[in-house]
This record gives sequence, structure tokens and C-alpha cells, in this order.
Amino acid sequence: MTLDTPVSKLFMVGPTYARRLKKLGIETVENLINHFPFRYDDYSLVSKIGRVQPGEKITLQGEVLSIKNEYTKYGKKIQKAKIADETGEVEITWFNQPFLVRVIKVGEKYSFSGKADLFGHKVVLLNPEYEKLKPPNIKYQIPNTIHTGRLVPVYPETRGVSSKWIRSRIAPVLNQLKSDLREYLPVSILLKHKMMPYREAILKIHFPENRAAAQKARERLAFDELFLIQSAAQQRKKTWQKNKLACQIAIDQEKILSFLSQLPFELTGAQKRCVKEILTDLGKKTVMNRLLQGDVGSGKTVVAAVAIYAAFSNGYQAALMAPTEILAFQHYQTIKTMLKPFGVKIALQTRSIKFDKLDQLDKFDIVVGTHALLGEKLTFSKLGLVVIDEQHRFGVEQRARLIKKSGVPHVLTMSATPIPRTITLTLYGDLDLSFLDEMPPGRQEVKTWVVSQQKRQAALKWIEKEIINESSQAFIIYPLIEESQNETMKDVRAATAEYERLQKVFPRLNLGLLHGRLKTKEKESVLADFKEGKIHILVSTPVVEVGIDVPNATIMMVEGADRFGLAQLHQLRGRVGRGSKKSYCFLFSQSKSKKVISRLSAMEKIQVGIKLAELDLKMRGPGDIYGLRQHGFPDFKLASFADLELIEKTRQASVEAIANIAKLSKLQDKLKQYTIRDIEPN
Ligand code: ADP
Ligand code: MG
Repeated sequence: MTLDTPVSKLFMVGPTYARRLKKLGIETVENLINHFPFRYDDYSLVSKIGRVQPGEKITLQGEVLSIKNEYTKYGKKIQKAKIADETGEVEITWFNQPFLVRVIKVGEKYSFSGKADLFGHKVVLLNPEYEKLKPPNIKYQIPNTIHTGRLVPVYPETRGVSSKWIRSRIAPVLNQLKSDLREYLPVSILLKHKMMPYREAILKIHFPENRAAAQKARERLAFDELFLIQSAAQQRKKTWQKNKLACQIAIDQEKILSFLSQLPFELTGAQKRCVKEILTDLGKKTVMNRLLQGDVGSGKTVVAAVAIYAAFSNGYQAALMAPTEILAFQHYQTIKTMLKPFGVKIALQTRSIKFDKLDQLDKFDIVVGTHALLGEKLTFSKLGLVVIDEQHRFGVEQRARLIKKSGVPHVLTMSATPIPRTITLTLYGDLDLSFLDEMPPGRQEVKTWVVSQQKRQAALKWIEKEIINESSQAFIIYPLIEESQNETMKDVRAATAEYERLQKVFPRLNLGLLHGRLKTKEKESVLADFKEGKIHILVSTPVVEVGIDVPNATIMMVEGADRFGLAQLHQLRGRVGRGSKKSYCFLFSQSKSKKVISRLSAMEKIQVGIKLAELDLKMRGPGDIYGLRQHGFPDFKLASFADLELIEKTRQASVEAIANIAKLSKLQDKLKQYTIRDIEPN
């Protein structure tokens, strides 16, 4: 047996169990031993039978004197056993487990864990866990009891797979795995962080001798989760840096300044900082791989344009790829306007707007496009820079294909996903990062209020007046009732009921309803009516929030706002404030908790998505970060993105380890599993 062995090959695991285990994400032995308990039942108090006190959670061990089925008055079967040790006898009762009479053998020694109860004047053990006492075997790592007489691990279960069943399979596997659980961390790191060795940690997270050991095991394995993911990123970075640069760009300060001076606005401080970081990279002899992160509207395009200009003024081409036709077209127009004065030839390449003779595209200095840029026949002869917008929407493969078109050009990727910096640093440790954490001036802030229950009526009145007086429009968003990313029928019914109720609240206004269960045609017609102003208030669930652009909508009202993450509220708020009119966001909450209200009030003061996401991480923890899972980020079992200290520790450790990776063959092997978003060098 090795770590790769499918679980279906294990003793007592047939195809049926293999199918059930798959629901828990367990397909191999490795998955099985990495299925960690989420708590432990404490049955470590082993008592002599004569000393049992009622109310104690205990383990009793002794010889079974008798066991039999009995019938209650109501015809139910109960099982009664008597066990004894040298200090006395005790009775055990189970309910409705008639098979026990066959399983538990009179005359043999067993271990029972449960709660001692008083039954009349007698102490009895009700419904205890049980297992046969085996003689201790020094060959084995795991002591002779696994369900009783110790801290008993309790696992995430699924139908037909109990914790007891899981324990019974994991224990023998752990006893058999030998060299497979070899340490892969360098000794220096283990010593520095005083960590439990890997093999011991795996054994003890399942079967710890006490709470302290369980804690040490968890700490070690949480370290590994963050360490490995960051090491993989560091390794990618090292590999990337081995690429041969397609063309070196000389940065001419004066040219850059004259380019900037003809822009209709001055760059913000954040834009200047990011431009500087990018230009410094471009001037180097190694290939740039940088991520520019900034909210929608923070002005990423002009930063990219400066980089494109730098490539162009050195006689190199640039390609800009965006995920949709609309975005590609917008970029095409923006870049064209900015760079035309310099005599740049720019082309657009999407599915519907295409050059027939692809080889002619090579005559252009800049090609903007969608996936259409990836076509086999499209080649560049002197590509110096690739810019990829909304980078997470392209697969690794796709990005790699564009990048490898001719030599390896500098790469700038851009993202508007509001993820806290610590998370970006962890997951994208291979990229250099630039953050646009400041909005261009003049951008009107969306005035935001947290509205308590008492102010509710007044707020609704105000909204009605504003819509009528300013011929404005509003969104009213209802939260999902259930804690899932997907809209359920229940959510739809709630939104529908609210929609009907609101028609009475706003009798003078037209309301529309939008939710995920509408047919595409119905959705389109509601949206069209809203765009044309036929609908004043669009009542909606949050799932349909994305991509709506109605500049005349100036009011965003969110019900049950406390159910949303701040970054998500920020994205909802981004639906308004798109036109010239003053815009407002109302966050309704019935919560009386000071903590909840103070979290929401951050929305009144902060208008930058990434800052809100960071605050949310601090206040609510990583599970709630908007879209993290949706964007395919890993779900740690033990580690937390909120644990800044551990992230920093593991980051340092990974830099150290990767610097010496040539000598660390076991770590090399381990890292082979961590190729999440690799871009191989050519
Ligand atoms: P992003 O791509 O980050 O969402 P854009 O690049 O589309 O944002 O910029 C949003 C708007 O802000 C554009 O109309 C752009 O012209 C404008 N803009 C960008 N930078 C500045 C600035 N420094 N001052 C004023 N307006 C700016
Ligand atoms: Mg953009």
C-alpha cells in the first residue's frame, strides 16, 4: 500500500464505500489520512468499575458476563449487558441495536465509553461506544483502542460513513504506512519553529494522547498547508525568472513624462507608484510577471497604457487581452485615443471583428482582443509586452499560449477582484504585486448609510421622494436566506413576497422583479424595462447583480445587509454612481449587535474594495470573503488566511526552502502536487 492506492483496494472498503467516500473527497489512501477530525470526544478517563460516579463521561474496561435482547412494553428491543473487573460489576443498556448480541462475545474483554447514569439506585452505562480490547502491540503506532479510552476523533461524515467507520479504516492504514510519511521539511525549519515531525503529526492529529499533542499536530499541518502553497509559488517564480527575455526595454524618462503630460488628467499617487514599479520591471533583464490589482474604476487601463507606450517607443509590439468583446472594444478605444498622437498602429481582434489575413496583424504595434488573440495563426515577430485584463478569467493554458507566442515578453496581469493583500501574497507569491488602492479624484463617492429598524420608514419615504423628484431609479437587493452561493427556491419565494409587499409601500412607483429562476427572455425584458426607465425600482437577489450598467440608477438599497461580506456590499454599491447624479447606498439591518453595526459602518467611511475585504477578513474570518471559493481558491483544512503571523512565518520559510530546493529532494517531490497555475518557461 502507498499513498496513491485507491481506497477501494483497502480491507473492508468495497465499491459502495468507495462511492460514499468520494462525497467526502476521499479517493486515495492519501486523501483518507488527510481527512482530519474536526473535534475529539474526550473518553480518556478510564475508571475502575467500582468507582464510577453517575454523570461522568468515562471508559470502563472489563469482561462481558452476559448480553441479551429484552423487549420493552412498547415492543422495542433493548440490549442489556453486564461487565465486571476486579472492583465490581456494572450494567450496560443499548437501544435498538439487536446485532450487538452477536457482536459482543461473553467471556471476552471489552472497552466501553459513554456517560454513566443513575437508573433507580444503580449506576448504568447508556449507549456506550465499545470495542474489543486487543493486547498492546509494540509494532503499531496506534494504541490498542481507537473508539474508547482516549481522545476519540470525530470526523466530517456522510450518509453511510460514520466516524467510527472512518477511525476503523484510518488506524490500520496509519500502522501500515511507513516510508510514505517521510519528513519533507528541512530540519532547520522544523527546529526553528519547534514543530512536530510530519509522520508524528499525521498520527497524532487522528489519535492524539492528549489535547496538547492534538494541538501541536494541527499547528504543524496548518504550517504545511500555507508553506507548501507558498513554496509552489516561489518555485514558479524561480522557474519564470529562468526565462529568456524576448526583448529589453530601455526606459526613457522624458518620453514617458511627455506621454503622461498629454493625458487629460494627472495620475493619482497610487497610479504613479504602480507605473514606477512596472517601468522598473520593464527596464530589467529578467522577465516581468506582475499583477496589478485595483477596484473597478481605479484606473488600471492608463497604467497599462504607460507600459504599452514604453514597449512601443522601444520598437516592440504589445498585446492586450480582455475576457469579453465589450471590454476588448473599450480598451481598444481608450488605448487608441491615448496613443494616437504618437503614431501608433492599433488593431482589434475579437470573434466578430477580425482580420482575415492574420499575418497582417504583425504590422500593427498593438493588438487588442479577446480569446481570438490566441489563434494558432496569429504570430508576432517582436512582442515585448503582454497585458491580460481580468486575469482570473483566463485559464493557465490560455495565458501561457499568448505569452509563448514569440520568446517570453514581459507580462502584466490585471484584476479587480477585491481580495485582501495577505491572500494575494500567499496565492500569487510568484507574481510581483502592485495595488491601486486609491480612486481617481472627482469620482463621486456613493453616500452610504447603515439604516436601523427605527429609521426604516423614514428611509423608505426618502427613497420614494428622491426617485420621483430626481427621476431616478433604485435597486433593492434581498440576501440569500441559506448560506450557499446559489440561489434556492426559498430565496426566490422570499424575494417574490417582498416584491409584492413593496408594491404597497411604493404605490406610486413601478417595480420589477429579477432573480435567477427567471427565463432568459424574462430577465432580458425586465432589464430592458429598467434601462429604459419604465421600472423605477428593481427588486433582486444578489446573484443577478453582476454586469448591470444603468447610469440613471442612483440608489442601492440592501436588505439584511449584515448577511453580506463587505467586499460583496461594495460590489453591489458599485452598481450605482455610474452617471453624473449623486448616488446613495442604504444598508438595512435588523441586527442590534454592536459588532455587526460597526462592521457595516465601515461602508460609510471606506470606498476602496480591497480595504473592505481586508477589514472583513479581520472581523469575520476567511470563510466569508466574497467569491474566494467561487474564484477557485483553495479551501484550507486547518490554516486560515486570517492568521497573518503564520502566513508571514511560512512565507519566510518558503523563500528559504526554495533557495535551497536543489538539496531538498523530498520537498521537490511533495511540491509536484502543487501545480495550480503554472506557466512553464519555453
Ligand atoms: P479600471 O480598469 O481600473 O476599472 P479604468 O482604467 O477603466 O478603470 O478607469 C476608469 C475611469 O477613470 C476612466 O474613465 C479613466 O479615464 C478615469 N481615470 C483613470 N485615471 C484617472 C485619473 N488619475 N484622474 C482622473 N480620471 C482617471
Ligand atoms: Mg478595466
